[in-house]
Amino acid sequence: MTSEITTSHSLPSYLNPNDLGAWGIYLQQIDRVTPYLGSLGRWVETLKRPKRSLIVDVPVELDNGTIAHFEGYRVQHNTSRGPGKGGVRFHQDVCLSEVMALAAWMSIKNAAVNLPFGGAKGGIRIDARKYSKKELERVTRRYTSEIGLIIGPTKDIPAPDVNTNSQTMAWMMDTYSMNEGATSTGVVTGKPIALGGSLGRIEATGRGVFVAACEAAKDLGLGVSGSRVAVQGFGNVGGTAARLFHETGAKVVVIQDHTGTIFNENGINIHDLLNYVEDHPGIMGFPEATAISNEDFWAVATEFLIPAALENQITIKNADQIKTKILVEGANGPTTPEADDILTQKGVHIVPDVISNAGGVTVSYFEWVQDFSSFFWSEEEINQRLERLMRDAYRSVSDVAKHHGVSLRTAAFIVACTRILEAREVRGLYP
Ligand code: GLU
Repeated sequence: MTSEITTSHSLPSYLNPNDLGAWGIYLQQIDRVTPYLGSLGRWVETLKRPKRSLIVDVPVELDNGTIAHFEGYRVQHNTSRGPGKGGVRFHQDVCLSEVMALAAWMSIKNAAVNLPFGGAKGGIRIDARKYSKKELERVTRRYTSEIGLIIGPTKDIPAPDVNTNSQTMAWMMDTYSMNEGATSTGVVTGKPIALGGSLGRIEATGRGVFVAACEAAKDLGLGVSGSRVAVQGFGNVGGTAARLFHETGAKVVVIQDHTGTIFNENGINIHDLLNYVEDHPGIMGFPEATAISNEDFWAVATEFLIPAALENQITIKNADQIKTKILVEGANGPTTPEADDILTQKGVHIVPDVISNAGGVTVSYFEWVQDFSSFFWSEEEINQRLERLMRDAYRSVSDVAKHHGVSLRTAAFIVACTRILEAREVRGLYP
């Protein structure tokens, strides 16, 4: 078969070309990798168009009796290698192009670490902090019912992401199961243990970030113990990664969250801070550190910088100030391509999100397998398997990076896009 696939190389008409946000960044990343895809390059347009995008209206009755409407999304970017897989986030800035980018990054991530999944993502445009638990339950259930058309244990499996957690997954699992008339544990991952959740899932993303950081440190001949660490975000990912660094003898000297930035040159006691945030809105006011400005966060000299909040945090505005040796991306898409170039020129070793934060979806995969077999593994077994898989993924991407003389990010995209497009090609176009 030699004929070319005809593509328009244009944006889908539903996107505003002047406001592509994270999707624009993802497209640039695909363009960078295309020259390395050889003959598979003729399929590359596949990666620039999500397979399926669903926008749903989520009407709910609020506690005060009024009716509110929220916008919900589920995007299945690619399912060539397996069912869609990826989290659901609740955030006031969620929009279609953002969910598309996050879904695409899930395709890349799942393929880069060789999980048998495609990529998907969901979201609701809502400021979760403004609503009661009962209201959020109604939002989650109605959203699940609406996207129930396209999700399922063998079709597309949601999981937690920003501002969603195991309780959100329990409501999703219950709603889907009630609609199906059968208890279906495998429809979501990141569930409570009582519903077929996996041990180690909550900590998995942060643990994976830490494992990836340790592998990168080996490459640079750096020790982790005694090193200085900066963490942006002190939620599930940043909090766990910070704790593991702290327990290994590293000094977490600066932390930023949505309430502000705190600094202690001798290292912040992460166990104390984790206790503190249980009863406070965030890290601000923690007595064993000093408050500094959010801009100054980026200028603190460290060995490790861990952005573990939202996308687009490291940009041309702050990349010049950054003084770190290893950047380990806990968040999805925290570094813009321009900032990536500046940091690379400065010699910063960047471990890209699609490798470094893959721990969460990896243990989601373990959870899904355990649910299907109804046979559950010990936490020790899960952590061991996670560490092995993360180390292997880092090493094989690092080998490809050395072979082609490219960054780890480009190498991860080469590995992932090759796997996805090989599957795409061998499946063939239907009809
Ligand atoms: N939300 C996580 C991520 O961005 C995990 C997704 C999953 O477990 O499916 O990777």
